[in-house]
Amino acid sequence: MNRTLGQVDPEMAAVLAEELERQRTTLVMIPSENYASKAVLSAQGCVMTNKYAEGYPGARWYNGCASVDKAEQLAIDRAKELFGAEHVNVQAHTGSQANMAAYYAVLDPGDTVLSLSVDHGGHLSHGQNTNFSGRYYRVHHYALDRESELLDYESARKIAHLYRPKLIVVGFSAYPRVIDWDAWRGIADEVDALLMADVAHIVGLIAAGVHPSPVPYADIITSTTHKTLRGPRGAFIMCKRHLAGIIDRSIFPGIQAGPLMHVIAAKAIAFREAMTNEFREYQRQIVKNARTLAESLQEDGIRLVSGGTDTHLMLCDLRPLTLTGRDAANLLEEAGIIVNKNCIPYDHQPSAIASGIRPGTPALTTRGMKEAEMKEIGKLMARVLRNPLEAEVRKQVREEVLALCERFPIYEDLEVA
Ligand SMILES: *Cc1c(COP(=O)(O)O)cnc(C)c1O
Repeated sequence: MNRTLGQVDPEMAAVLAEELERQRTTLVMIPSENYASKAVLSAQGCVMTNKYAEGYPGARWYNGCASVDKAEQLAIDRAKELFGAEHVNVQAHTGSQANMAAYYAVLDPGDTVLSLSVDHGGHLSHGQNTNFSGRYYRVHHYALDRESELLDYESARKIAHLYRPKLIVVGFSAYPRVIDWDAWRGIADEVDALLMADVAHIVGLIAAGVHPSPVPYADIITSTTHKTLRGPRGAFIMCKRHLAGIIDRSIFPGIQAGPLMHVIAAKAIAFREAMTNEFREYQRQIVKNARTLAESLQEDGIRLVSGGTDTHLMLCDLRPLTLTGRDAANLLEEAGIIVNKNCIPYDHQPSAIASGIRPGTPALTTRGMKEAEMKEIGKLMARVLRNPLEAEVRKQVREEVLALCERFPIYEDLEVA
């Protein structure tokens, strides 16, 4: 029982050490990734992983739940305070499970849902046909305007009137602009639909007041905790008071049994961290950094979908460079810059190839990088993307990336084994 990881499993210890090294020595620019604090990491590795706690604080199916009750209540109370929500459920294992629970609460199989498709910036769990959401519900999509590449509220209103959805899902994985919650509420009310906001990506910005909050407008709000919120991998749901019962029952016993109490403890810590001035400043810097990175890329001739960003991420259209998203992401990885390929609106490439990449600034900003570094990183990325045939360029950029990582160290005193 008392042996260290290195003694029990040197093979896995080496793999974990390798991943720590990768996170230290590359530029993590996947906008859904971040570096959780040591406090969050330690809770995720704590003894609450051992505890069964089906049910909710004060009403469990198992005994011995006094301290996990406290942990979960802290998480609930802090999330309520942070977002001003009427009801919070912190048990969803991931964002997709949170969405599944929300649908399960208010929809029957075959009911009509309106959402944005994945290739326009929506999420798999918003009705893609390879996902449960696309199989169980009748899903129609609204779209981005072809010219402006922004949400087209007028056309969404028409589509809503045409299909009369029971639920409208708003909240995206690859949309770099501000969402007008009031406009969506208006559309939902016109057709008597429920409004669900999925703020998985922008939740940290919302907590800090850097992006408008859907809390006054949406009936149900789902979110992850591991993206801009910088907590443990997981999710939570907020809703209006009258939906509290069906949301809770839909998570347990609806789609989950035992909650991950160690992760819930870590969520509580992340919510507390998110209440600080330091966190609000961090979120403001994420957005400033994204704007600066966007400008730097544009100065070097990289086209951005919708012409820029208001959030933590941007979408680069690589068609003018005759590069695919897949190739671009692989070239950048060789140089130590980690991004993901992503479809752009009206993409002609399949999603496994894609015409874009989706860089973001949350993790770089956690390292303490600011505008000067963003300018530099934009130039490094453009150098790689504009010279795809030159391995030497990628080698030089890799050296500069390493130097940047050394100047902005992360997880210095962390050990895995
Ligand atoms: C990331 C994301 C989710 C949840 O993803 P999981 O990987 O299941 O946690 C849900 N919705 C949106 C819009 C997302 O970007």
